[in-house]
Amino acid sequence: AKKQGLGRYQFYQEALTQTVTDRLQLTAEIRQALVQQDFVIHYQPQYCHDNDKIVGAEALVRWRHADKGMIPPAEFIPVAEQSDLINELGIYVLKTACQQCLAWWKRGLPRFSLAVNLSVNQLRPGVAAEFQALLMEIGFPLANLELEVTESLIMKYEDLSELKALQALGIAIAMDDFGIGHSSLAQLKHLPISKLKIDRSFIKDIPAADNDMLIASTIISMGHSMGLKIVAEGVETAAQKSFLAEKGCDLLQGYLLSKPLPAEEFERLLLARQQA
Ligand code: C2E
Ligand code: CA
Ligand code: CA
Ligand code: CA
Repeated sequence: AKKQGLGRYQFYQEALTQTVTDRLQLTAEIRQALVQQDFVIHYQPQYCHDNDKIVGAEALVRWRHADKGMIPPAEFIPVAEQSDLINELGIYVLKTACQQCLAWWKRGLPRFSLAVNLSVNQLRPGVAAEFQALLMEIGFPLANLELEVTESLIMKYEDLSELKALQALGIAIAMDDFGIGHSSLAQLKHLPISKLKIDRSFIKDIPAADNDMLIASTIISMGHSMGLKIVAEGVETAAQKSFLAEKGCDLLQGYLLSKPLPAEEFERLLLARQQA
């Protein structure tokens, strides 16, 4: 029995070591991918429910890997978040997306609000000044930028001065994945945010799930009473769209209108909409 126990222990130890090794290797690969510019940004439109006009786009990063193909963010963002790498990756995404949008607008394509995701460790002291300097250098209008921050992230911080500083610059702050964390709607009053994104988990079972419809419509009406704009994420069906439209949800995002698209395809979508 003792031997078996030891064997199990060794096995466990091995698995543990491997995980750490894997993570270190992945970290090194991400670092290299940044240098080689192997990260690409896809754009997913956000649109008005009443006229299908594209009023926003969320920048979503992917890793174009030589051997493994397109790697989704869930497989590398959490690793990047464990080190300073997330700051480098975050800056890369912000810069690349802003430059891309500026290039479109300079060619006369319709303007929209660009939404970029912000991770936990990015909200460090000095980030507002750093973003301001970067955006001024690029020439990107601050009023066209929005940062998406998750509910759990905001609730983790007692000091929201950097987020407030970002908002004071004219950058809109949206609370992402709203509803799955622990914040109450009452707490929102004190936060520097102007938008709520209803988490996809409350959208996906509409119209079958009565309680999800109740949650979604409550978020919309209470959010509105606090002066917040509401975005629904993960809108996949016409039934979901019409429910959300009826409840007055301001913006919709999801596969129903479009999946996240590579820049060239998003550009075609913008052009097609402009001519429509
Ligand atoms: P998120 O911010 O909640 O982004 C929305 C995710 O839902 C995206 O997955 C998008 O492709 C997916 N999605 C959009 N519409 C639909 C729909 O109708 N149905 C379904 N089933 N899914 C839909 P993606 O691109 O794989 O990104 C996953 C997460 O990775 C994001 O969740 C975000 O938390 C993170 N992420 C992506 N890009 C970045 C980034 O540049 N920086 C940081 N910090 N995080 C990022
Ligand atoms: Ca997001
Ligand atoms: Ca989200
Ligand atoms: Ca989500």
